[in-house]
Amino acid sequence: MRVSEDRYSRDLRSLALGHRLIRHEVRTRWICAMTGLTDERVRNLLHSYGVTALPRHRGAAPTSCAVFFRLALHPEASALAALARIWKLVPATPVRNARKVLPGLEWGESLCEAFEFFRAVVPRGMLTVDQFILLTAALAEGKLAVAHCAQCQAAILIDPLEVQLLRCRMCTQSAQHSSRHRIPKPPESSEPRVEVDAGTGDQQPLL
Ligand SMILES: [Zn+2]
Repeated sequence: MRVSEDRYSRDLRSLALGHRLIRHEVRTRWICAMTGLTDERVRNLLHSYGVTALPRHRGAAPTSCAVFFRLALHPEASALAALARIWKLVPATPVRNARKVLPGLEWGESLCEAFEFFRAVVPRGMLTVDQFILLTAALAEGKLAVAHCAQCQAAILIDPLEVQLLRCRMCTQSAQHSSRHRIPKPPESSEPRVEVDAGTGDQQPLL
């Protein structure tokens, strides 16, 4: 009896996660991997929404991490990478083939929680759950890592193989702004400097 109750409860959780992932427009392949549902059951779930009512990503899932380093997306990818670590989506030690090893019911539920938390804070976020999965898998395999800005300690997504200045976008912009507006020093005079007699203490005339 206990076993069938557990199976029933797990089945309900799988269906709930399936609905949640469909609302996030996740590809069918990932929904099957996380929920354990077959293609056919996922299709039935989609029919329950009316397939045309929800936008669907089709074709191969994204595989390149280059997108995370685009100027407009890097801060968002950095925040999601930090959340992936906080939500323990990334194992403590690197794993091989994370996209096969990681997906499961608990992992999928945590993934949704982390992503929904992020979207509650940044409603106009541009990265998708499919991309969040790719990001988390790359972190789990050690292909990407989370470091901290040397100036403000903000989390930054980095490629561990690339030597780079550890500075977040805000601090980089702030440094560029201050260097553009720095008042240039007057050129050194070629005439010999006149040493002021510090002993007198009298202010000298300006002209
Ligand atoms: Zn910073």
